[in-house]
Amino acid sequence: MFFILGISAKTIKSDQGQFLCPVCKTRSAYEIKVQRRYFSVFFISLFPISKPKESAVVCLNCGTHMPKMVLEHHS
Ligand SMILES: [Zn+2]
Repeated sequence: MFFILGISAKTIKSDQGQFLCPVCKTRSAYEIKVQRRYFSVFFISLFPISKPKESAVVCLNCGTHMPKMVLEHHS
């Protein structure tokens, strides 16, 4: 038997809302992306091997990824 084992990372959307984007200076929608690593076989994710990590806030207007602290500044 031959298995392709590996570790894959999945990015899921955890939250969304509105904020004043510091990049495009517009009040626009954002999404919070969470990344989590999975143990995978044949490129199919089986189970998570790490805790979810809140990685970035993404502005849906300009597409910029930025740290989550931008939400605290402009709320
Ligand atoms: Zn923006």
